[in-house]
Order: sequence, then structure tokens, then C-alpha cells
Amino acid sequence: MRIFAASLATESNSFSPIPTNRDSYEQTIYFKPGEHPDRGTLCTGPLWVARRRAKQEGFELIEGSCFWAEPSGPTTQAAYESMRDEILDQLRAAMPVDGVLLGLHGAMIAHGYDDAEGDIITRVREIVGPKVVIGVEQDPHCHLTEKRIRACDIMILFKEYPHIDFAERADELVTLVVKAIRGDIKPVMSMYDCGMIDVIPTTREPGRSFVDKMTKLEGRDGVLSVSLCHGFTQGDVAEQGTRVLVVTDNAKAKGDALAAELAEEIREKRGTWYPPYLTYDDAITAAYAEEKGPVVVADPSDNAGGGAASDNTNIIRRLLERGVTDAAVGPIWDPVAVQLCQASGVGATFKLRFGGKTSETSGLPIDADVTVLGLTKDGLQTFGKAMVKFGDGAGIRVGGVDIALISHRTQALGLEIFTSVGIDLSKKKYVGVKSTNHFYAAYGPIAAKVIYCDGEGPSALDARKYPYTKVRRTIWPHAELPEGKLIV
Ligand SMILES: [Zn+2]
Repeated sequence: MRIFAASLATESNSFSPIPTNRDSYEQTIYFKPGEHPDRGTLCTGPLWVARRRAKQEGFELIEGSCFWAEPSGPTTQAAYESMRDEILDQLRAAMPVDGVLLGLHGAMIAHGYDDAEGDIITRVREIVGPKVVIGVEQDPHCHLTEKRIRACDIMILFKEYPHIDFAERADELVTLVVKAIRGDIKPVMSMYDCGMIDVIPTTREPGRSFVDKMTKLEGRDGVLSVSLCHGFTQGDVAEQGTRVLVVTDNAKAKGDALAAELAEEIREKRGTWYPPYLTYDDAITAAYAEEKGPVVVADPSDNAGGGAASDNTNIIRRLLERGVTDAAVGPIWDPVAVQLCQASGVGATFKLRFGGKTSETSGLPIDADVTVLGLTKDGLQTFGKAMVKFGDGAGIRVGGVDIALISHRTQALGLEIFTSVGIDLSKKKYVGVKSTNHFYAAYGPIAAKVIYCDGEGPSALDARKYPYTKVRRTIWPHAELPEGKLIV
């Protein structure tokens, strides 16, 4: 048995001011065949897991290239085609194979390709023919298009948000692909469109119970796998939306009915999956009304993890205008300001312009007399078992607000964004973080309270804020909830 595996992944925000080219991938993750390190990454799970499983199951793994770029704007056409064709050439050279494993993200847009994953899976099918088993793993923040479902045999999405289960889902994918190759199962997929889009964290109810329910349904009565596609509001594509996917062992009618039943629950609970969120001003008022701090205030709209620049200054400006004390905000991505702080040294007070640079969704830069609180080089922050780089950093104080500046664009995951640049969060009343839900692992435990707000960056929570040209305006929350629909 011969199985080919490769990965091509990013999450494209149609409204991000940051362009994405081949360098964007090569500077983040680019493993050529055989170069994948012995640790998993979110979207290379299938290849990494298949290495271990190859020995156990007795199949031969042929490794292709793996690519991942930080979320940002659509990938250039030339970059997408060169990475895609690199993988397809490797597959052609590996033929004949019995199976193909693809680690994709599922929300990649390239110029000329609104459905990049649909394109690559279809081309893989053209190369391997109808009988070879194609298995795909994706992030739930994907666009689950009809084209990609029709072109592969088994699709499995991460269930958890934060996505801590990527390796378990990859393991399941390898198991099902191997069984299908052996003829032990005949996977058939059912996909149901919920007629809506929502943000669905699984660290709280009702998302937690829904994931547990999906898991319990699997492995019995012919149900092989159940996935929920949350959808990705920042991607302006026709098939954006929340969808349910069920894989059965040759039981299409059962899969169709189960997908429809699960979709009905998602639809009924629309608008309740994410915690209530406030405007910037109401969030500041609410935080300072609390008796105890720190109150952690998340701003998903400027989350680098969703493709934002993370240099919007509006909330800092509001805090300064209101004359607050004991506040901290971060991270602000501004490599030039970091460089100037590094040159000035800890303790220096000088006139600095920072933030508000990348685009109109960044707000305006702030000019102020700042004091440098602390500096770091090649900074790292903790995210679960991983260490994520944020580059050189500088902590500065303006009035009653301490600000963490970073040089490598990323969201607030670990406390080190602040603590490594001289900002003591335990003494703060207000801690503003640019992140949607991944911040919660580190910041939840130190918070007296967590408040969510929807701000003015390019990655808003409220889908109605986006100037879409392709997204269907007939789905909730753009319109009254329409009927749900079985697509596949
Ligand atoms: Zn995701």
C-alpha cells in the first residue's frame, strides 16, 4: 500500500491589508519532502501522523511538500500555482498510489481561485483517477464547497476551537483512508448548509456540548465521522457559511438525515455560540466598573490570527482620551517603532510615532512622549505546548497606558508579549489583547473577568460589517434565516 501526503494551507482574509506571496509561506512553514520535523503543526497533521502510522499499518508513505503562511490577504496567483504544481508534480512522480492525504486549511483564497482547495483536490483526482482514496483534513474556519466534497472521499475537520485536536483528527483520517483502501469501508459524504454563519468557540456552552455530541455519534450505526464547518467571515467567497458534514459507511440516507438534524440545532442556537460583545467605549466603561482587575478585554477585529495587521490604535486613543490609569494593550505590530525603542534603551523618554500604519483599518498613528519600560530580542510566547515567535519587542508607557510593541506579526497567545517587555499585568485594571479566542488559554487564568468587544480592525466579529461582493446576502445574519439545504 502506497500513500502520498502533502500540505498547502493558509487562511485568507479578503479585507486584510497584508499581501501573501511565496515568501510569506517560506518564512513561516516550508518543508520539502522528508524535511518535516518530528513535531506536528496545525495543518501538516496528516503527513506527520502518517509517518508514525506507516510503520504500524505497513504502508509506504511518500512525502510531498508542506506549506503554511500566517493568515493575511489572498495569495498571489503565481505563488499559489507554483506551490500547487510543486505538490502535483511530486504526486505524479509517486504514482501509482493507493491513497492521498492532504492537510489543507480550507479558507485559502488565491487571485483567480476563490476555491483554492477545490482546485487542488480536483487536480489530485484527475491525476490519481476515480479509485484512489483521497482524504483531507481542514480547519473548521473553512469554506466547505461542493466542489471539494465531490472531489475527495473523506473530509474531516478539527472539532475544537482553540484547535487543540488537530493530531487526533489526522489520526482518524489516516484510519479511515487505510480502511477504505483495504475495502473494509465505503465512505459516503453528506453535507448540509445551515443558511447562516456564526463564531463557535468550544471552550464554552453551547459549543462544548455540541462537540461532545458529534464525538458520541461517531463509530456506531455506520457513522464514521461528523464535522462542523463554522465558516470564515473574513473570506469573501460565494459558498461562505456554516455547514455540517457527515461521513457514513455507505449509508447516504442516514448521513443526510443526521446532517440535517445537527444543522437544525446549529440554526436554532444562532447568535448564542459566541459570548455577547461590546463596542470599544462600552468595553472600557464595563472594565473600569469592575471592582477587581485585571479585566481582560479581547478585540477580535484586529486579530493577526484572522489576517489583521494588529496595529489599530483606536482603542489606545480612546483609553488615553478618557484619562484611564493602570491599562495595558497589546500586541501592536510596528517593527519601526520597536527599532527606535531598541535604539533609545530602557528608561528613555522620547517622542515616538507608533501604530496606525498599514491601512485605513489601522486607525491613525499615535504621536506621544513615551517611556521605554522594557525590551526583548527574538521574543517567544507560550501557546499550549508550542512557542510562537513575536520577534523583537518593546514595552512603552503613554500616560496611564502601557503598550506592547512587536516586530513579527502575531496575536496575543502567551503573557510574554507583555511580561518580557517590562509590563506587569497583575497590577493592571485593564488588559487589552488583540485575539478572538486563542488568548483565553493564558489570559483566562489571570483575569478577574473577560470581556469581548468588536472593534474597528479588518477582522470584525459581526459579519454585517464586511463590504462583501460575493458572499450570499440571503443567509443569516444578513437576512432572515432561510431554509437549510442538503448540498451533497
Ligand atoms: Zn480556525
